[in-house]
Amino acid sequence: QAKAAGRRTFVRYDDSMEIANRRRAQLSSALHKVLDRGELRLVFQPRLSLTTRRITGVEALLRWTSEEYGEIPPIQFIPLAEESGLILEIGEWVLLDACRTLQRWRQAGMTDLTVAVNVSVLQLLRGDFSESVRKALTETGLPPHALELELTESVLMANAEQTAAKLQALREMGVSLAIDDFGTGYSSLAYLKRLPITTLKIDKTFITDLNRDPDDTAITTTVITMAHSLGLTVVAEGVESETQLRFLDHFRCDEIQGHWLSRPVDPESCLRFIREWSPAAIGHGMIGHGAT
Ligand code: C2E
Ligand code: MG
Ligand code: MG
Ligand code: MG
Repeated sequence: QAKAAGRRTFVRYDDSMEIANRRRAQLSSALHKVLDRGELRLVFQPRLSLTTRRITGVEALLRWTSEEYGEIPPIQFIPLAEESGLILEIGEWVLLDACRTLQRWRQAGMTDLTVAVNVSVLQLLRGDFSESVRKALTETGLPPHALELELTESVLMANAEQTAAKLQALREMGVSLAIDDFGTGYSSLAYLKRLPITTLKIDKTFITDLNRDPDDTAITTTVITMAHSLGLTVVAEGVESETQLRFLDHFRCDEIQGHWLSRPVDPESCLRFIREWSPAAIGHGMIGHGAT
């Protein structure tokens, strides 16, 4: 009987695999047309400095609304775009569009804002990535220091030697470099010390359980302290509550990002949000060092 049950389970699993594979194939083929059809767009999420209580910049996040399949989240289509190599073309579009939007905002008076762009491993490993970056900056007129590139740990761990040299070239150009989703991979801070990075973004899984899970609390405070000793700016992602904000402020986290401040929104809404933001919006005494 157990055998029969196991067999049924196996058949069901097999079916669902087939459905998943078919879906992937469909999405993958639809993905080939996104650029021509103009189905991609960027949304922007602001980042807040806990020291100045001002918005320092935004992260550009990719959105795909497919004519056939509707809204597809990036965790579904980015891996497909990586498999097919399409991420190279898509990545160039993202870079250019993000730089163009930010330069427009800067010219409209938001002169201190920066933009963070997510970069996939394939883009970085390609021979002329720094050329693409240089091109996007020249074409849009955005100064290099207003651009930050976000890379995940896994990207940097693979091909350590090769990536180190590439990152160095980008740093020399003047762009900032961030490690995204920090804590989810295997890299140690000692290893990161050898890379010319400027910013560390603590993954949202650690922020979610702050104040509830003692381990996450320990990891977060340790990461902040060590990152500071390496001269890095620390950003917490996925901040959703005031309790998390207070905690991060107390432990001297530099910047936060998350739904508590704003969800990622279309460029016009984001610009409006930044324009209307006032440091007083956090409220006096609402957060404050030692308040927790
Ligand atoms: P990420 O770079 O770590 O981006 C942060 C993700 O967390 C975003 O999901 C954002 O919408 C979400 N988020 C922000 N605040 C909160 C919060 O308070 N709570 C929760 N639960 N989530 C929050 P999104 O936009 O779905 O993007 C997912 C991932 O897809 C990104 O993670 C990034 O790795 C990748 N991605 C997005 N855009 C691009 C792109 O242009 N190029 C590449 N290569 N990857 C991208
Ligand atoms: Mg990111
Ligand atoms: Mg992240
Ligand atoms: Mg992530």
